[in-house]
Amino acid sequence: MGRDYRSLHDPNAEYTMRNLSAEPMGVTGSRGPRDVEITDVQTTMVDGNFPWTLVRVYTDAGTVGTGEAYWGAGVPELIERMTPFVVGENPLDIDRLFEHLVQKMSGEGSIEGVTVTAISGIEIALHDLAGKLLGVPAYQLLGGKYRDEVRAYCDCHAEADPEACADEAERVVEELGYDALKFDLDVPSGLEKDRANRHLRPGEIRHKVDIVEQITERIADRADVAFDCHWTFSGGSAKRLAAALEPYDVWWLEDPVPPENLDVQEAVTGSTTTPIAVGENRYRVTEERRLIENGAVDIITPDLPKVGGMRETRKVADVANQYYVPVAMHNVSSPVATMASAHVGAAIPNTLAVEYHSYELGWWDDLVEGSVIEDGSIAVPEKPGLGVTLDLDAVEDHMVDGETLFDEA
Ligand code: MG
Repeated sequence: MGRDYRSLHDPNAEYTMRNLSAEPMGVTGSRGPRDVEITDVQTTMVDGNFPWTLVRVYTDAGTVGTGEAYWGAGVPELIERMTPFVVGENPLDIDRLFEHLVQKMSGEGSIEGVTVTAISGIEIALHDLAGKLLGVPAYQLLGGKYRDEVRAYCDCHAEADPEACADEAERVVEELGYDALKFDLDVPSGLEKDRANRHLRPGEIRHKVDIVEQITERIADRADVAFDCHWTFSGGSAKRLAAALEPYDVWWLEDPVPPENLDVQEAVTGSTTTPIAVGENRYRVTEERRLIENGAVDIITPDLPKVGGMRETRKVADVANQYYVPVAMHNVSSPVATMASAHVGAAIPNTLAVEYHSYELGWWDDLVEGSVIEDGSIAVPEKPGLGVTLDLDAVEDHMVDGETLFDEA
């Protein structure tokens, strides 16, 4: 038997005077669509190229909202733990419920990490639910549209050989129809002496430049190409790499240095004309804000089902927009959170693109009815909510071992 995480907290316990649940706040509203209460929250984990945590919020109106949390150990348990805090609440009060969960979980890490991830999954499901209850697409809840379609960029994988990378870039552009790509640049060159010290030897930098040169020259104007370093290099090595890439058409260089030290990040970004993108490893607008305000990024890359959800991503984008910084949403999720990213991408001015990270999986969009990405772009649905309907048979086929499928409605 698993643990009963719901019983670990008394949802009515007063740990703090800042209790944002409806009753002490004096929030009422029983007319029209507001005459609805949350009855349950359930999760089902799908074994994709990451363990996608699908989230469902159920109501006494029979309407169900579907969301998704970024992967991470403990996320389903945290959602189960938080369920008593939203049961009985009005699902239309999305912002207050987000704050309520952050406040209730503040002693358990709602500043950053998997608690924020878990809250994100519920928050996305609330947007789907609110859209369905009000009969409007989720982007409408965020202020309406700047665009009908959001550009998707394809995260690509190939052997760490410059020509193999260029061949794969060519294939993804010509056969899969993307005009925006990303390749890993933290790949072995065979010249490494010590992988712990973060220092790049000259030959390693030449190998990376060779990869960038062969891809960008082969693809030329047919696609934009970004390169990801996954927080690998020292500040000095990152500066040398970014400088060496300046002659090439690099869309952006992602996460060249470790995420903890903002001063180093700022120094690297300020040292080069190569655009630097950072943000997927930060939580909530409070952390993303520091990157933006300190000039540590040219492009901000929040991961929507990790950073805090749809409104939190909108808030990040609003801060970024004050600094004329574009937003390229990191995304390794199923079609559910990908579509949540697309709705926010439609609703903010500074959208650059949304990532697609599952091109080798083969069944990514079997998980929902219809197709999500066509010709490298996501058409934002006009249906109420997120506008994606899970294929529960497909979900069941791909569940993580030992999972049970959430209730149908
Ligand atoms: Mg990345």
